[in-house]
Amino acid sequence: MTVEPFADLLGASPSGNGRLAVPFDGNSLDVEIEPDPLTGAYQWFHFRVRADGAVPIRIVNTGASSYPRGWEDCIVWVQPAGGRWRPLRAAHADGIVTFSHAVPGSVVSYALFPPYRQARLARLAQRVAASPAGQVVPGDTKAGRAARFALGGDASARQIWIVCGQHGSEHPALWFADGLVEALLQDETLLAGKRFHVVPIANPGGMRRGFLRTNPLGQDPNRHWGEGRAACPEVATLLDAMEGRGVDVLLDVHTDFEMGTVYLDVLDEWMETPERLSRLREDFEHGLAEFSSDVAFGRRYPWSEPPSPDLLAGMCAPAVERRFGAAAITLELPIGRYRDALGAPGIWYPRHSLALGRAAAAVLLGRA
Ligand SMILES: [Zn+2]
Repeated sequence: MTVEPFADLLGASPSGNGRLAVPFDGNSLDVEIEPDPLTGAYQWFHFRVRADGAVPIRIVNTGASSYPRGWEDCIVWVQPAGGRWRPLRAAHADGIVTFSHAVPGSVVSYALFPPYRQARLARLAQRVAASPAGQVVPGDTKAGRAARFALGGDASARQIWIVCGQHGSEHPALWFADGLVEALLQDETLLAGKRFHVVPIANPGGMRRGFLRTNPLGQDPNRHWGEGRAACPEVATLLDAMEGRGVDVLLDVHTDFEMGTVYLDVLDEWMETPERLSRLREDFEHGLAEFSSDVAFGRRYPWSEPPSPDLLAGMCAPAVERRFGAAAITLELPIGRYRDALGAPGIWYPRHSLALGRAAAAVLLGRA
């Protein structure tokens, strides 16, 4: 008697993404990544599989994804039930990413990066609330209002904003926020004169649903920072909070799915950024390169042509620079394989994000 092989796709929550492309045929479990509403963008996946053998799992629609180069030398993260996340090398050919079910007979989670957990964020929030210099401003996911942490000085202090997770799938940026807050909590005496507002997940609705970039309404928050009342609730509520408190420095943290390095996206030449603000940003970048072996000064997004006026108007850092006269910095983190400051190849783990967050805190405490 032969036993039919068994494999099934199970959802993951929060931040789950992945559905069966076709019913399991006994040979491979074919999964497709679900696109964001309205925009159709997709790259992020996170699902669970139960299978009785080392069944090949294939993600079959990577060819038309938003960042096709991101699948070269692809890393898939794997978490056996009750175990730790670890990276697994996957094959990529003809728009299909293939790997084998890691633990036959068991349920295993797979994701593009270890998802930042709500339980961990809740523990961090408790510690912020318990800190004499800390305050937790609760969010309301349905209303598109992100939770944030305030730490340090009062209204007369320099107001430093760190915004992570405008794109809810950018889990390296969410881990970064954790490392940064952790470092601020340990440095209360240095906080006087500076007030930090940290938004760990600026787009909580999109993060929960496993969307690559959009909020639940299908809007990309990082295109809605222009003049006037933003139509995107995640941005409107954040701008209200910023208007009430002011912004001296903004750090907007993202994840780049293709570049494979930590870098700054600098738009000065099209923004006519005042030299004073450019220098503040360069000081920050030099500081980060001093504190982190993953950062090399001067790495930039290679704009092949000038960004459109609409794009410049709608992105967070340029808009905040214009509206508040703030030093506004867009920091991009890698996912998957990356090169450190010296160009040595490696795999970006959550611990790299945590360490970079701590390094950024050290720089901002000292220099911002
Ligand atoms: Zn982003």
